Amino acid sequence: MYVLVTNDDGIDAPALLPLKQALDQVAETIVFAPDHNWSAAGHPKTMHKPLRADPVTLPDDSQGFASSGAPSDCVSLAFLGVVERKPDLVVSGINLGANLGYDIFYSGTVAAAVEGVINGIPAIALSSDSFEAVDYTGPASFAARLAQYVAQHGLPADMFLNVNFPSVPWEEVQGVAITRLGRRVYRDELVRRADPRGRSYYWIGGKPPSGVPERGTDIWAIANGFVSITPVHLDMTAYHFREDLRRWNVQLS
Ligand code: MN
Repeated sequence: MYVLVTNDDGIDAPALLPLKQALDQVAETIVFAPDHNWSAAGHPKTMHKPLRADPVTLPDDSQGFASSGAPSDCVSLAFLGVVERKPDLVVSGINLGANLGYDIFYSGTVAAAVEGVINGIPAIALSSDSFEAVDYTGPASFAARLAQYVAQHGLPADMFLNVNFPSVPWEEVQGVAITRLGRRVYRDELVRRADPRGRSYYWIGGKPPSGVPERGTDIWAIANGFVSITPVHLDMTAYHFREDLRRWNVQLS
């Protein structure tokens, strides 16, 4: 198994190397990560400016790539041939901060996994419900074990696994919960300022998001100390609504 390891916090992020080194125990790995933080940058496909992907030596003396592109660009560049061998699995993370519910639409961590799926291979996105660097030994070895499960069982096409770790010490984790996406509640607030010439500018500020901890959701799992694994399908068609929509009888003119 050849694993492409990436993230959205950047190549120097504290969780990247522990993740890579845990995966080294079960697979060959190649790190291909952004050269700076792309958190909440979503899923860009950079088409209107050139992209760098420079060879770098990681602290464990392994060779990887640091790119000026987004996490999704990193995966794309790897598949397009910057990396000579096609990966069998994309593993993205471990992100600083959970990616629960609607977060998956903003997350660069998730976008990298999605890019893997679009390129026809299985992918795992990993995030930790903590914005501070913690001991990643437990989560990283769990990620390696999960990669082995994926290698053993395969994943249906068009799907990835979205994994979140609760912000408790590894010994206190309650278990693994197979979950669905919950409902994030964003508490964004408009912060309005004025520049030195009196023109307004804005920040999207406010408190970190909360969520509805409904049983069975990723939000519930994390709030209760479980590792959550949500299988996510890229086909977002609202199948059940098609009949209602037909009844609208939308006409061309
Ligand atoms: Mn991030």
